[in-house]
Amino acid sequence: MNKSTEGELPNILIIDDDSTVVMALHKVLCHIGRIRFASDAAQAFLLIEETKPELILLDVELPDMNGLNVCNKLKENPETCDIPVLFITSRVEIGFEEKVFDAGASDYIVKPLKPRVVAARVQTHLAYHRAMLQLDELAHTDSLSSLANRRTFDEQLELEFKRARRQQEPLTIMMIDIDEFKKFNDYYGHISGDKCIRSIGLTLSTVAKRPTDLAARYGGEEFSLILPDTDDHGAIMVFTELMKKIEVLEINHAPDATHRFITVSAGYTTMWPEQCDFNRITAIDLVQTADEALYISKDNGRNQATFKHLPILYSNASGQQPG
Ligand code: GH3
Ligand code: MG
Ligand code: MG
Ligand code: MG
Repeated sequence: MNKSTEGELPNILIIDDDSTVVMALHKVLCHIGRIRFASDAAQAFLLIEETKPELILLDVELPDMNGLNVCNKLKENPETCDIPVLFITSRVEIGFEEKVFDAGASDYIVKPLKPRVVAARVQTHLAYHRAMLQLDELAHTDSLSSLANRRTFDEQLELEFKRARRQQEPLTIMMIDIDEFKKFNDYYGHISGDKCIRSIGLTLSTVAKRPTDLAARYGGEEFSLILPDTDDHGAIMVFTELMKKIEVLEINHAPDATHRFITVSAGYTTMWPEQCDFNRITAIDLVQTADEALYISKDNGRNQATFKHLPILYSNASGQQPG
């Protein structure tokens, strides 16, 4: 998916083996986007991977593949399924329109090309595509911290739970909560409270380094980490780095708080799939257990992380839990 920002010219790919069509399209579209061409499907797939176009204009008849099949293939791939495809065609036979839309195309333009019609159609689909991307990003981002929001966390948790199970890799979930934040808010006010949440969120995003790690704002002054292929040892390293970085921030706490500077507490748990009874364990159990561990950290004086095993969900013969 291309996340190019507003103001930046979008990449547009023209796939057509007819040079007169390509030249005509280029003339119309060169002010709307950065144009690239491919004269066959093989070249097109390489360019799509390389340039991540925001829109594709596609000829129905290509030397190496039918355009409808090209479109089908793009729509089947999660990486390319959102790219709007507009067919260029001189065909007007009965049933053609249905075939185009069945293949997943957004629209089609009939030859001979009318410059204003081509430009209008392309601009409409580009604007729609960008709006959809922005909407998707808004729906998955927490506006205060810019971290992933609760919805993204829930979706990702389910995906990583299944992946861990499939690939037999450990999965760690960590819940993190700002200590005595009510005192901070009451003393400094909500605006400063929001600023503090933003700083902690930003710091958290710097310790969740792997591309598959996810740092999210769970709600209020609570954050969560999904750490795929990470066991309890890996997780404590992440938390130690987080603690150190928060320490360096030296965010003054309220005078009546236990610590002089803002601190966080955490609770975490690790699932080892090879020892799990998947008739009894769900992704929610990981959050529940990490949350229980967080309360232990709070009870033990805060500014620390606690590990808790998943409860009686292991099916190994000895009944022994790992770790
Ligand atoms: P503990 O150490 O046990 O976690 O104590 P706490 O005071 O942090 O926890 P408590 O749940 O009592 O209070 C959390 C406070 O966090 C309540 C609310 O004032 C504040 N808070 C939650 N969400 C936001 C937010 O979005 N912005 C601001 N400024 N404050 C928030
Ligand atoms: Mg052709
Ligand atoms: Mg809380
Ligand atoms: Mg708190």
